[in-house]
Amino acid sequence: MTGAGVSAESGVATFRDSGGLWKQIDPMKVATPEAFEADPRFVWEWYDKRRTQLKDCSPNPGHYAVAAMEKAKDDGFFLLTQNVDDLHERAGSLRLAHIHGKIYEVQCLQEGVIREDRRAPLPELPPRCPNCGAMERPNVVWFGEQIDQNAVLATESFLSQGEVDVVFVIGTEASFGYIIDWAQRARHPKGALIEVNPGRTTLTPYADLHLQGKSGEILPLLTQNL
Ligand SMILES: [Zn+2]
Repeated sequence: MTGAGVSAESGVATFRDSGGLWKQIDPMKVATPEAFEADPRFVWEWYDKRRTQLKDCSPNPGHYAVAAMEKAKDDGFFLLTQNVDDLHERAGSLRLAHIHGKIYEVQCLQEGVIREDRRAPLPELPPRCPNCGAMERPNVVWFGEQIDQNAVLATESFLSQGEVDVVFVIGTEASFGYIIDWAQRARHPKGALIEVNPGRTTLTPYADLHLQGKSGEILPLLTQNL
């Protein structure tokens, strides 16, 4: 399971840290359905800027180490990320679910159809559905909304195969209850819950091991012999 900390090492802005996005702008102005309804263009300008900034970011050794874990474990591996960027995919991850959506996807407000649009900046804000012409929204999970249900299904489907030997929780403050819940449910009673994070989090008391530091430095040490 990964969070903003993994992408922060690639220069992607985090949310809650000092200097994070939510220190610069009130999330209620750009990350709620109400904000979008009130001023879709303003919300889209903010997302367009983030989509454009992300184009200049590259996966870091932490992303590549996660992809190496998957390569070693094949279908015995699953990645649940809270990140909306595509850096895991760009590092080679295939079996993953974006629980908070994807920033390069847009959703038609009329038909609900989701499509990928990687153009950044977008030529028109807000973007329009090529099929019906209705306004589209970013396919990300906003405050007050349900987490991505396809991602939930994919995660539950993986867990239904049985508990896992090792659960890594990487670069997240684990501030969401479902993250803590999944991390604990996924671990086999004799398995290990390993946290990789520079600081202590709400999950730390439940972890068997807390590897304190940056994921881009710690994870490659763990995977170099895979
Ligand atoms: Zn449409």
